[in-house]
Amino acid sequence: MFSFILHFIYRCRRKTWEIEDLPPTSVIITFHNEARSSLLRTVVSVLNRSPEHLIKEIILVDDFSDNPQDGEELAKIQKVRVLRNDKREGLMRSRVKGADAARATVLTFLDSHCECNVNWLEPLLERVEKDPTRVVCPVIDVISMDTFQYIGASADLRGGFDWNLVFKWEYLSYAERESRQRDPTQAIRTPMIAGGLFVINKKYFDKLGKYDMQMDVWGGENLEISFRVWQCGGSLEIIPCSRVGHVFRKRHPYSFPGGSGNVFAKNTRRAAEVWMDDYKHFYYSSVPLAKNIPFGDISERVKLRNDLHCKSFKWYLQNVYPELSIPHSTTSHIGELRQGIFCLDTMGHLLDGYVALYQCHHTGGNQEWSFTNTGLIKHHDLCLTLSSHMKGAQVVMRICDGSDSQKWHRIEPGGLLRHSRYPLCLDSRLTNIRGITAERCNSASDTQKWQLTSSSLSSA
Ligand code: UDP
Ligand code: MN
Repeated sequence: MFSFILHFIYRCRRKTWEIEDLPPTSVIITFHNEARSSLLRTVVSVLNRSPEHLIKEIILVDDFSDNPQDGEELAKIQKVRVLRNDKREGLMRSRVKGADAARATVLTFLDSHCECNVNWLEPLLERVEKDPTRVVCPVIDVISMDTFQYIGASADLRGGFDWNLVFKWEYLSYAERESRQRDPTQAIRTPMIAGGLFVINKKYFDKLGKYDMQMDVWGGENLEISFRVWQCGGSLEIIPCSRVGHVFRKRHPYSFPGGSGNVFAKNTRRAAEVWMDDYKHFYYSSVPLAKNIPFGDISERVKLRNDLHCKSFKWYLQNVYPELSIPHSTTSHIGELRQGIFCLDTMGHLLDGYVALYQCHHTGGNQEWSFTNTGLIKHHDLCLTLSSHMKGAQVVMRICDGSDSQKWHRIEPGGLLRHSRYPLCLDSRLTNIRGITAERCNSASDTQKWQLTSSSLSSA
């Protein structure tokens, strides 16, 4: 291990960069009530450890810190510009404010408690210069929270997550580590970025939709930008020869308007709802309470995704993050059961209530059904149940108990939903009188043909 680290340092030290050909960057640092010493350490290390001509400016965005002097004092330093919010905006809107004010063609985002290491900038700028759709991060070393000492971190890590959508560091696979032994300087593709420290071409940042301006305070934005970059044609990389130290803290040293749990869930839901397609249900299964947190209007971000012709979440899982295992699922379909413009609807009924057709509204709710591999047709924990085995029997919602009266299967072609024991199919012919009934199966009958469609906006 030790010899590997030496080999690694040697290989990075031996690297040279054509710094004359690299583009200068605007460094953007947002902060809210940051310790002045940490802010100063960040700014000074940027100036001291970067080739002069590559730093166009350092933009500090003071996110309405209690004391405006924290920022004002730093504005005396060369190249430093300070923008102050007149109310607390959170890190996403603050970073966008900094980015909009930037004069360089490349943006470098840093947290307000970092120390840039020797040659940190050159390898990052080189990667983005060669291909502006790359979004690149340094290896994030550790600045001890207790002693403020600088401690090197492993370069064999990349960013990932579980279905709770919380960022985590992951060891590279054996194959990747082997290949890195041959050339420890090569870029590491990462499914997710930690979020605070990265370099991106400014035009590309703008084109891809900056950040979701309706996210608040902190959290979830790294998830969102990671999905967005990959799904919309870019890539995320960690560049092992670039190292920046960061103070990792156990808790947030600032207030969290709205409560940290709620804000994090709201931001995460916005990312999940826009980018994860039906896979968002695995998040809701993992964090059920999130379903109760309102996430606001996402139509603009959905439009952005459509306008940029971004790929599906399924593509992301298959091509970027195949290591994320998909929970064993008994659900083969979640969404609407449709006949033309009408959808199967609970009509607001609950236990023992009947169901009927109602005009589709595509927002889930009473029209959200899951069809399991075991043949259940479910709305939450209620299952469509045959009330008797005579034709014309009403179909009602009962607690799912797995009994035969709740088992259905789909007959293709035609889309009939037939009971598993009796030759009876879900039929809408009496929808306005008795709701959905079970009638003798007839593949020529339009009132028995059901389409399964996803309600892309389903919210709960
Ligand atoms: N920040 C901000 N406004 C906020 C919350 C955070 O400007 O409302 C800044 C914060 O000062 C820091 C960066 O955003 O520079 C990232 O926050 P933090 O370091 O707390 O996140 P962590 O690194 O712990 O994930
Ligand atoms: Mn931080």
